[in-house]
Amino acid sequence: NHLFDLVRSGLPADPAAKTFIESPDGAVLSYADLLARSAAYANALTELGVKVGDRVAVQVDKSPEVIFLYLGAVRAGAVFLPLNTAYTGAEIAYFLSDAEPALFVCDPGKREALESVAEKAGVAALRTLGGDGRGSMAEAADAAAPDFADVARGPDDLAAILYTSGTTGRSKGAMLTHENLASNTRTLVDLWRFTAEDVLIHALPVFHTHGLFVATNIVLATGGTMLFLPRLDAKRILELMPRASAMMGVPTFYTRLLREPGLTREVAAPMRLFISGSAPLLAETHREWQARTGHAILERYGMTETNMSTSNPYEGRRIAGTVGFPLPDVALRVVDPETGAHLPDGEVGMIEVRGPNVFKGYWRMPEKTAAEFRADGFFITGDLGKVDADGYVHIVGRGKDLIISGGFNVYPKEIETEIDAIPGIVESAVIGLPHADFGEGVTAVVVAGEGAPDEAAVLAQLEGRLAKFKLPKRVLFADELPRNAMGKVQKNVLRETHAQLYR
Ligand code: ATP
Ligand code: MG
Repeated sequence: NHLFDLVRSGLPADPAAKTFIESPDGAVLSYADLLARSAAYANALTELGVKVGDRVAVQVDKSPEVIFLYLGAVRAGAVFLPLNTAYTGAEIAYFLSDAEPALFVCDPGKREALESVAEKAGVAALRTLGGDGRGSMAEAADAAAPDFADVARGPDDLAAILYTSGTTGRSKGAMLTHENLASNTRTLVDLWRFTAEDVLIHALPVFHTHGLFVATNIVLATGGTMLFLPRLDAKRILELMPRASAMMGVPTFYTRLLREPGLTREVAAPMRLFISGSAPLLAETHREWQARTGHAILERYGMTETNMSTSNPYEGRRIAGTVGFPLPDVALRVVDPETGAHLPDGEVGMIEVRGPNVFKGYWRMPEKTAAEFRADGFFITGDLGKVDADGYVHIVGRGKDLIISGGFNVYPKEIETEIDAIPGIVESAVIGLPHADFGEGVTAVVVAGEGAPDEAAVLAQLEGRLAKFKLPKRVLFADELPRNAMGKVQKNVLRETHAQLYR
């Protein structure tokens, strides 16, 4: 079993003596527990009729049991399919009918509501698992044998289907193979110097690539330890830092922690590595963090479809506002989105990547899959960016967020950077809205802090700093920007809310 063999290769000599997961209440699970519990889940899944290649859909709150269920599915040769806990019944109906899982595991509290949804989608079995680790799925594992002969699976077999975050449209199921996950894990372990000594603060959700694959697989492959928090809790993270060595977070982790007076150089001193990804980290956050803690946050870039593709270096300069270099086994190029022609360094274009990390395709979307791959195997990420003279990759934004105003390309990030630099502005999102004269009207949605300027003053400050065609036609003020669970700004929500602004 290609992926579980990677886990086995990281097992400590005495699995019972090494902590895999420590929970907030102090409960400790060892690598021996991991072996026994994942085996029990593999047996329970098999007894429930899950066959090799079947999908196991899971919408449950975070707990160590979810990790064991994931590993049980991998060992049984099934395809693990986690779903965002925020999804409603109607959304679950779509995912279940699209994925056609053999089993759906949901929260005990949602069982009643989701039973008919699962039935309508033709799902044969429904079991439950709560954030406390209890439920009928856990009971099935309790009753199952704690050893299991792993089902043989090769590098190219599916290990998981992960739906994209749905930031730009309806979520797509990304088919991830054993080797997609294993190769990326090996590469990141080397690059970020993870060992059995590491203690990772894990406060990310486990239904997304960041918390499930990047964080968990790295710890599994090295036999390290995770301190598991159900969700982001800045005060609790500060308490854990003295016993930890690394943390992975989305940018919101860092902005929240910076608001804590308890975040000091001393508290962060035992840590060796802070990693950020899933959404752009403001250069200002990077600088503030370095000033407060002495640590340069290591920003990396990836997506559900590709796992991780670039990273700032472990040694060497971690540059704010960049996502670093392509990983050693990843080829990255920037091309003209229309012609596909390779662009010289410094020019903004579409980012394309190729490597063992890149997914097999979108589940049951052969046409979409074909459209997103070039003939030479490069995947079209949908992200715009450039490579600078030193080889660092800069993400400029999503192709779908590019604004075309009066025939000119306007890159939101350039304008956001200028607005964010204005004293009193907390953050901003620049979007294009339908406009009779310009096609799209450049529009800024701004979160203001104390002493913030008004609309006219913001516009006055931008004048002279930006070409006229890039200047926002309007500056709107908001209490906060709409974000999803991964801290991604939902520009499609903003575009919908303000669609009539120029109409
Ligand atoms: P959907 O594809 O359904 O619209 P999504 O693209 O947000 O949703 P994910 O796969 O979770 O779903 O996110 C990947 C995207 O997140 C990347 O394509 C990129 O736009 C963004 N991203 C990830 N890391 C970074 C980063 N360090 N800096 C800037 N953007 C990032
Ligand atoms: Mg995407």
